[in-house]
Amino acid sequence: MRIGIVGGGLGGLLAGALLSKNNHVVIYEKLPYLGGRFTNIPYRGYQLSTGALHMIPHGADGYLAQLLSRAGCNVSIVNSNPDGLFRINRRNYTYRELFKIVNLRDRLKCLKMAANLKLGRVDKDISFGEFLEDVPLALKVGNSFTGWALSLDAYSVSMDEIVEIAKNYHKFGGPGVPLGGCKKVIDELSRVILENEGKIFTGCEVERIEIEEDRGYIYTGEGCSEFDVVISNISPRLTERISNIKIIGRKKPVPSRGIKISIGCRERLIKHNGVLFTPECERLCGLNCPSNVDRSLAKEGYNLIMAHALQVKEDVKKEIDIVLEEIDRLFREENIGDYQILHIQTFRDDIPVNHASNGTDVDPIVNKRLYLVGDGAKGKGGMEVEGIALNVSKVVDWIEKRKLFYR
Ligand SMILES: Cc1cc2nc3c(=O)[nH]c(=O)nc-3n(C[C@H](O)[C@H](O)[C@H](O)COP(=O)(O)OP(=O)(O)OC[C@H]3O[C@@H](n4cnc5c(N)ncnc54)[C@H](O)[C@@H]3O)c2cc1C
Repeated sequence: MRIGIVGGGLGGLLAGALLSKNNHVVIYEKLPYLGGRFTNIPYRGYQLSTGALHMIPHGADGYLAQLLSRAGCNVSIVNSNPDGLFRINRRNYTYRELFKIVNLRDRLKCLKMAANLKLGRVDKDISFGEFLEDVPLALKVGNSFTGWALSLDAYSVSMDEIVEIAKNYHKFGGPGVPLGGCKKVIDELSRVILENEGKIFTGCEVERIEIEEDRGYIYTGEGCSEFDVVISNISPRLTERISNIKIIGRKKPVPSRGIKISIGCRERLIKHNGVLFTPECERLCGLNCPSNVDRSLAKEGYNLIMAHALQVKEDVKKEIDIVLEEIDRLFREENIGDYQILHIQTFRDDIPVNHASNGTDVDPIVNKRLYLVGDGAKGKGGMEVEGIALNVSKVVDWIEKRKLFYR
């Protein structure tokens, strides 16, 4: 079968690598490089990133790791230990220790909440914020987690989604860092595609997608190509904008936005390879230090720290100032005066953190000829790239099982 893929981000490449084993795959990427929001940006000896914080939510055992191995990619993912620590009142606590710093009444409430969540015995129609709000510290902790992992405050995430996320966490565990950072994943996927004789065109923008009953057509500046199946990796909204197919129905994808700040520092603000959550900050949700796993991600003798924050109000400059102040306070508390802000990135509008925030994703199967992959069509309970892996797996299995149907 001839399969045309629009966009060479993680979603497009993952689908391409899996499908190129048995099909003729062609990928069109408008930028001069592959990987979209999941690749490295080399900068003054550091490996910064276009988007992701060099972290895979369920590490070496999650959905993405499983698909990478199914595709034949060689990526080593180092699991975080601890998954994360929570910074409260200048001290860092493990999740379990948090139960000890609240009064007895709140501790009992928290233990009950944690048990009910694990068993899925919760009202799925309320938000995570409503679920937690009885205990102020739990709400702050919840906000820092959803802010870091989903770029949403806890009131914007449904319990329905949280229950699925918790199931995945109990099944696969917490995050991990791929050696080589995001780009290693992208390099491996493109290697597999090329070895399977797939074609990848970079610097090649798709201007139009036309879907007919028996064929799909992709138009670029070079002309038009015909395919049995078209897979779009460019978000449901952008796909609808350049195609003849209505994709977005009553359920609208709501993008999530955020601010990321990359920091270089000689001293070790973070001494572990998980996330340092910051529940007491207004905007900053957490930081990680991927160079604690892979020294090649930072300049020699330095550490790469990545901070992620929510954008709450519209004035982006003011929002960035708040985050910078919160970062500075944190470093000063640890008596680290000498750090350098390497890169400030904001993600919103056509380049958000996620094209659909969790719970607002679009069904990836549009019709027999057109499919969506990427973070506008994630699978339920799939955080970030794990959601993309769930979505790619559904699309690939659907196409492979119905091959005869395309003749
Ligand atoms: C600040 C930030 C931090 C994050 N942290 C993490 C993290 O730590 N862990 C994690 O798992 N996830 C994280 N994410 C999310 C993750 O990076 C994204 O969900 C994922 O990279 C999206 O991949 P995608 O394939 O859906 O889309 P994209 O990466 O956006 O890929 C789409 C591709 O399509 C191309 N394209 C667009 N239009 C056209 C066209 N007309 N023709 C041809 N090509 C086109 C684009 O150039 C792009 O390369 C983070 C995101 C951000 C922004």
